Amino acid sequence: MKKLGFGCLRLPLTDELGGAVNQALFNRMVDRFMEAGFNYFDTAHSYLNGKSETAIREGLVKRYPRESFLLTDKLTTPLFKTEADIRPLFQEQLEACGVEYFDYYLMHGLSERLYERFVNCNAFDVVLGLKAEGKVRHIGISFHDKPAVLERILREHPEIEVVQIQLNYADYDDPIIESGAVYEVCRKFGKPILVMEPVRGGGLAHHLPDEAKKILEDLHGGSPASYALRYAASFEGVVTVLSGMSNMEQVEDNVSFMSDFQPLTERELEAIDQVRDVLKRQDLIPCTGCRYCMEGCPQNILIPRLFACMNERKKLKDWNNYGTYLHYTTKYGKASDCIGCSQCEQACPQRLPVRKLLKEIAVVYDHCE
Ligand code: SF4
Ligand code: SF4
Repeated sequence: MKKLGFGCLRLPLTDELGGAVNQALFNRMVDRFMEAGFNYFDTAHSYLNGKSETAIREGLVKRYPRESFLLTDKLTTPLFKTEADIRPLFQEQLEACGVEYFDYYLMHGLSERLYERFVNCNAFDVVLGLKAEGKVRHIGISFHDKPAVLERILREHPEIEVVQIQLNYADYDDPIIESGAVYEVCRKFGKPILVMEPVRGGGLAHHLPDEAKKILEDLHGGSPASYALRYAASFEGVVTVLSGMSNMEQVEDNVSFMSDFQPLTERELEAIDQVRDVLKRQDLIPCTGCRYCMEGCPQNILIPRLFACMNERKKLKDWNNYGTYLHYTTKYGKASDCIGCSQCEQACPQRLPVRKLLKEIAVVYDHCE
């Protein structure tokens, strides 16, 4: 497997606040990716409310022989509530993607809380059954929790063949995410690693603060994204790094440096340390823009957009970007509309204190005290 995978959560859309997948553009992105020798695609039934799977069917499955690509899909809560729900859901996923099997099928976003639900629904045995029938080639998990939780899951389920984790230079030592320690657990159990969020939803690419960008520019090498992806791909045991590509420029950039992948040099690693220090000083909200928090929000608040707004303001030293805030709150909820139900926090893989952050945003933009 080549070390770059196509993450299909952030596909190009016809409208930045929703809308359909721009299928014509996605098809061209798939063609460029495949032509450059890459073939790994990652999706989930919940991505873009099912539009990610159907875009893959149209752009990849109908246009390329099945054996020419690897496709990963995921078993996601709350899309199943009982054991009896799992097989019909799986069948829906096969049909949405237009395939007869998945190369990898991952239990999605396992944390201590969700793990209990998977166990109670006997999900591991059901997926083992699907593997025995040839509908799943490899079983895995994607994981968002503490190292001790991963250790427990891997001990209790040796049938797990591969683990997808968040790994990027900003979160490696982060006391909440603990990417480095989670990575070490994967190594201890000898599990191949798939990496998600290597550029933290764009925060380590185009959204880097200017001071950090300058440090990387002085290396006279590639784009900010290139250092983030190569950082993650440099770790032993990492089989592929997912990039959630949204436009052709990102595809072109990624294939340019991942076609002949080279680990980061000592000098580049030193620069990454400096960038990490800049990020710590700026105290930005480490939201990846995954939108998991929004699915259950009764107030329809565009949480990641409001966080991006606040980050922009911090990066530009209290720059007045109220117009941007208005753009995201005219048809959707304002920060001060939050009723504190906490659904978003339970869904957030970054474990962000969303309610507290929204209160801070409400003070700035909605003039709440
Ligand atoms: S706590 Fe606020 S932002 Fe979060 S889901 Fe509830 S209403 Fe939405
Ligand atoms: S707040 Fe959390 S769940 Fe919501 S987009 Fe950001 S990282 Fe994802």
